[in-house]
This record gives sequence, C-alpha cells and structure tokens, in this order.
Amino acid sequence: MASALDDLPPASLIRDDAERDFYAQDVFTQGPRPAAVLRPANIDELSAGLKAAAQDGLTIIPRGGGMSYTSGYVASDAGALIVDLGRMDRILSIDETDMTVTVEAGCSWGALYEALHPKGLRTPLWGTLSGIKASVGGGMSQNGLFWGAGRGTIAGSALSFDMVLADGAVIRTGNGFLRPYGPDLTGLFASDAGAFGIKAHITLPLIREAEALAYGSFAFDAPAAFAAAASEVARQELATESFGFDPFLQAQRMKRDSLAADAGALVKMMKAQGGFWRAVKEGAKVVAAGRSFLDDAAFSMHFVAEGLTQTEADERMRRIAGICAAQGGRPVENTIPKILRANPFPPVNSMLGPNGERWVPIHGIVRHSKALSTIDAITALFEANHSEMERLEVGAGYMFLTVATTAFLIEPVFYWPGAWGELHRRSIEPGHLAKLTEFADNPEARALVERLRGAIIGIFGQQGGMHFQIGRTYPLKAGHDPRAWTILEALKAALDPDGRMNPGALGL
Ligand SMILES: Cc1cc2nc3c(=O)[nH]c(=O)nc-3n(C[C@H](O)[C@H](O)[C@H](O)COP(=O)(O)OP(=O)(O)OC[C@H]3O[C@@H](n4cnc5c(N)ncnc54)[C@H](O)[C@@H]3O)c2cc1C
Repeated sequence: MASALDDLPPASLIRDDAERDFYAQDVFTQGPRPAAVLRPANIDELSAGLKAAAQDGLTIIPRGGGMSYTSGYVASDAGALIVDLGRMDRILSIDETDMTVTVEAGCSWGALYEALHPKGLRTPLWGTLSGIKASVGGGMSQNGLFWGAGRGTIAGSALSFDMVLADGAVIRTGNGFLRPYGPDLTGLFASDAGAFGIKAHITLPLIREAEALAYGSFAFDAPAAFAAAASEVARQELATESFGFDPFLQAQRMKRDSLAADAGALVKMMKAQGGFWRAVKEGAKVVAAGRSFLDDAAFSMHFVAEGLTQTEADERMRRIAGICAAQGGRPVENTIPKILRANPFPPVNSMLGPNGERWVPIHGIVRHSKALSTIDAITALFEANHSEMERLEVGAGYMFLTVATTAFLIEPVFYWPGAWGELHRRSIEPGHLAKLTEFADNPEARALVERLRGAIIGIFGQQGGMHFQIGRTYPLKAGHDPRAWTILEALKAALDPDGRMNPGALGL
C-alpha cells in the first residue's frame, strides 16, 4: 500500500525490524513495534515527516535521547511513527550579546556544556546526570533537574520553542528573550511529554559560568535530621546543587565507582578548578580520602556552592556546615560532589546496578513540610514488604534533592535481577558492561517492583506531591482541579484534533 512516508528522504527512515524494536523500548519497558522510525535532519524534514504521518493517519511518538523510564515514548499500540530527534543535534546560535543559546531539540546536555564551558557560559539549569545522552528537548518535554537545581527546574528555564504540531505546522512560542509576554505559550508546551507537539528548536538563557566553587558533604544518622538540614539549606539559597543518598544507595554508588574512575575525573577537575596548584591539592585530597569514608554513614548530603569569589563560595559552605552541624550532621570528605562536578555528564553506566541488576527510579516532589512524612511512609512500605523484597532479591534505596527554595525531591530507586534490554547494551560503556553479569529474566521480581512503584505513587498523591517525567506513569489528572483538567483537554483537542500526537502521554 502506498504510504506518504515513501516520499521522505530514505536516509531519514528506519524500517528494519530489530531497529524498530529497539526504538520501542525505554529504560524500563519494551513497547509494541512501531511502523517506522523517522530521523529528520532538520525542522523542514520534521515538518514534512509529520505532514506525511497525517496523510497516513499515523500516531506520532517523539523520542529524544531515550533515557527515560516512564513510557513517555512507549506507544500503547503497534504501528506508530517514532520520531527520533537524534540527528537534530546542532547548536544553532550562541549569542553573547543577548545572552541566549538556541539548539536543535536533539542536542544533548553534554554537547551543550562542551560548547558553552570554554566560553565561560552556561544555561542556569544545565542538565540531568544522563546528559551525555539525554537531550535538551527531552528535558524540556518531561521536565527534570540536576545541575543548577538550586535555581529551579529544566522546563521552567525555557525562553521559547519552535514547535511542529501534529499536522506539520510550525509555530514559535514567545519572543526568545523574556517570558511571559501575555498568556504563556512556551509554558504550555514545557513539560507536555510531547502530547502537544514536537519541539524542534529551543532557546535558553545564558549565565556566566561560576568563577568559584566550594564543596561539602555531611553524614546524618536519622532521616529527620538530614531532611531538616537539606530543607534549611534550600530555604536560605546557599547551594546550587544539594543532593543526598540513603545508606543503601550510598553503598551502591561506592561499589560501582572506582578509584580509577576518580582518577579520570580528576583530569577534568583540574580544568574545572582553574588554578593548577589548587587542582593538585584538591586531587590529592580525593585520592587520599579513598572510598571508605562513608561506609557506615546513615544518610549523606552533598552540596556545591558557587560564588563570584572563593571567599563568597566558602562563606556559603561555612553556613551550610553550620546548618548541618545544628542537625547533628558530621562533615565527611567532599569527594562525591567534587568528582561529579568535575565530570558532570558521566557515562550512563548506572542504568544497571553494580552487579548487572536491572535498575529503575521512581520519584516525587513535595513541599518541605511533607518531606519527612513522605520518607517515613515510603520506608514503612519497604518494611512491610521486606520479606518479599528479600525473597525476590529486590533492593531499594533513595536519592534526595532540593529544588529552588520551595521543593524537596525524593527518588526511591529499585534494583532487581532481570534481563537487559538492547537500550542498556547500547548505552552503557562496553568496558563496563563486560564486567557485569546478566541475570535471567525474573517476571515475579519485576511485578513486585511495579507494585511498589504504584504504591509509592499513591504515597506521593496522599502527600500532595508532583512529578517530572509524567509520561504514561504518573497520574497527572488526579493532581488537577477538574475544571483545569477540562481546559487541558480542550487545548489538546485544539492542537491535535485527531489525537495522533503521543496519545496516552500525560493521560490525555
Ligand atoms: C543514568 C541516568 C541518569 C539520570 N539522571 C537524571 C537526572 O539527574 N535528573 C533527571 O531529571 N532525570 C534523570 N534521568 C532521567 C532522564 O534521562 C531524563 O529525564 C531526561 O530528561 C530524558 O531526556 P531524553 O532526551 O532521553 O528524553 P526521552 O526519554 O527520549 O523522552 C522523554 C519524553 O519527552 C518526549 N520528547 C523527547 N524529545 C521531545 C521533543 N523534541 N519534543 C517533544 N517531546 C519530546 C518523549 O516523547 C517522552 O515523553 C536519568 C536517567 C538515566 C538513565
């Protein structure tokens, strides 16, 4: 049967069965086989591709770096057109006068960092830890954070988008230097999970790269003390990044990371630190601290503070240390924030556990006042399921982050024995993958993980939480005023009248 897709450049279309199956899987889930994968080289090809898909009546599923695990780009039904933005990875302009940067949506955070860093520039929110592969478009479409989280969230930082809608029409949102100018169309498409259209170009603000950095790590015996300290540091806006681990996740990190990897990161750190002697001193401290300093710590919290001068950065860290001490936190070697900051976009080897286990996080964001009750509720859930988790070898830990002054992110992470997907094989460094053992598939363990994920989503709902990476996993509708939800449905119908743009994502 003739297809409008046949008129597209053959180099932009994939129809091979194995490749189509690869594109149907995210980090957690294998979806049904798509009809084809479109890999447009630019916005014109993207627009032509969506027009062809409209003629053929195809469902459209946008995919960025493919680094998510909430079925955001996993179609509900076979026969969709997956649109992979991976070839649209150029940086279109860096404007140092107007302090903006415009990229194609498939540009990775790592590539953007590499382009901006030598100029002493960066974006205020400058990517996720997956940024070596994860794209700016993916971050804008499902929101997220890591670098710069003291300032807010990734999708909140966009200035404007060039959107391609389901019928192939191209629209520009905003003016590209300040928003909102009237009702905020950029905000409408931010965090839309690709349900409203495909981002082709993204304009972000620039700021100057920090000139001075200070690092701090603290160990706490109880979650109450740790959460109180983290929230207070956030309220006082002292750190640009504040993140922590529970003892389980801390141990996983320590197993996976090696001193050899630290040595590699040190080379990068030398560059990041600027001054040579300072770099040598910092490097020597990292090596001397080794990997054992946190072995018996209960919870660890790590901070990066920035300043115009070293004195300013150090003063921020001094205040952070005071807040932690007031909660009984003990200072420990600050190796973890130092290493991460020196190599901000490491290989995505943590996509599998340290022994080759499957891995999936689930997260929610709550107000400070709800952080401890949420942690307690999730801990109680784990305790109630302890024997089942032990029997099926399901491990779980937590990561924590604070966001701007108002929010506290809690991210339980699961490990369980299970078979790998092709996405794991292609994403993890071959040398690292070779050291891991693949487990046999264990549907019972996976079913337990899925049940616990569902229960945790329920806990976040009870605590008034919200989520990034909504995809097809988090219940957006449940968190909305019913009248506001009706408006969202009406907007979806106006932008995508045939319901072909990532149907099911956002629950729309
Ligand atoms: C090892 C590892 C570390 C991670 N660390 C972090 C972290 O620090 N912080 C964090 O928030 N997340 C993290 N993640 C999760 C994930 O990588 C991020 O959420 C990231 O933003 C996903 O970007 P992506 O380009 O891979 O998007 P994808 O997974 O390809 O897509 C995500 C969603 O966006 C849509 N989409 C993608 N591109 C477009 C576009 N151009 N237009 C419209 N819709 C689009 C897709 O349809 C899908 O719904 C991590 C994941 C891994 C595997």
